[in-house]
Amino acid sequence: MRLKDIYNNNNRNGAVISYEVFPPKDDTDGHKQEKLMCELTQLKQYNPALVSVTYGAGGSTRGKSEEIVCRVKNELKITPMPHFTCVSTSREVIKTYLRAMEAAGVKNILALRGDLPQDGSCCHDFLHASDLIEFIKRESRLSVAAAGYPEGHMEAESLEKDIEYLKLKVDKGADVIYTQLFFDNNKYFNFVEQCSAAGINVPIIPGILPVLSYSQLSKMTSLCKVTIPQNFMNKIEHHKDDNNYIKSCGIEFAINQCRELIENDVAGIHFYTLNKASSVEQILKNTKLLKAKS
Ligand code: FAD
Repeated sequence: MRLKDIYNNNNRNGAVISYEVFPPKDDTDGHKQEKLMCELTQLKQYNPALVSVTYGAGGSTRGKSEEIVCRVKNELKITPMPHFTCVSTSREVIKTYLRAMEAAGVKNILALRGDLPQDGSCCHDFLHASDLIEFIKRESRLSVAAAGYPEGHMEAESLEKDIEYLKLKVDKGADVIYTQLFFDNNKYFNFVEQCSAAGINVPIIPGILPVLSYSQLSKMTSLCKVTIPQNFMNKIEHHKDDNNYIKSCGIEFAINQCRELIENDVAGIHFYTLNKASSVEQILKNTKLLKAKS
């Protein structure tokens, strides 16, 4: 199914669920990939509309990403959405990749610039995701998604300017926007309002991360602009080494976050699964319960 149809108000019954996974690192014998397929099989019962598969900076995980995309489609029978970054890739390579994805029956793609390489070894065919989106629309029949940043992208001079460029991505053909993770729903609601005022009228799907450990949270927040609500911080900061406790706080926090998002009629929720089913499963079960009761 194509993104436009997945998020079409007439087709969907409530919020559309989707999952993001990544190709496991150091997986020479394929054991971790098998584990990932088991986790996804467990999550399949909640009827995800799609599974997105990340793409390593500069194409470092390309083979593995493609393998997982094909397995999601052919073995799990779930619509896959490969991510693709253009920052270090030439026009010709991208063309070949698009042909391969279409030949494999892929219908959707998340088009990204990617983080700039620290050594400056950029290929200058595509400077921004908007250039990539324009190219994909010209060269393929893929439905395209783009990334959005409720608190602004790290490099953006302001949120307003970032939204201006987001509008460009939509004008070039993005059908849906998936947001970077956030913990403060008000940041998301304000962002959606600002996007709407800027003329962006495609679904903006919130990205939710169930926190699994303190170190993972610190790493994430060092990589992107994201506010951690003080009440959550107060709960976890004296239990930094207790992963079980942090994980249960993360689940509880995400349940409340999702509940409020659903009450506000979001078109979907995109889970950053970190390749693990259990937290997402708890959130889905409890969110469904809360929804059924209301
Ligand atoms: P862009 O939209 O190009 O924006 C990058 C910066 O340039 C922003 O500051 C923007 O304001 C500015 N800008 C945009 N257009 C213009 C313009 N025309 N002129 C001047 N300035 C402009 N990274 C990976 O490596 N692999 C992944 O699989 C991956 N998946 C992701 C999934 C999601 C949902 C999100 C939110 C991010 C993901 N990322 C991934 C991270 C992403 O690659 C980085 O955040 C990257 O730095 C920016 O990518 P972008 O597509 O948002 O870039």
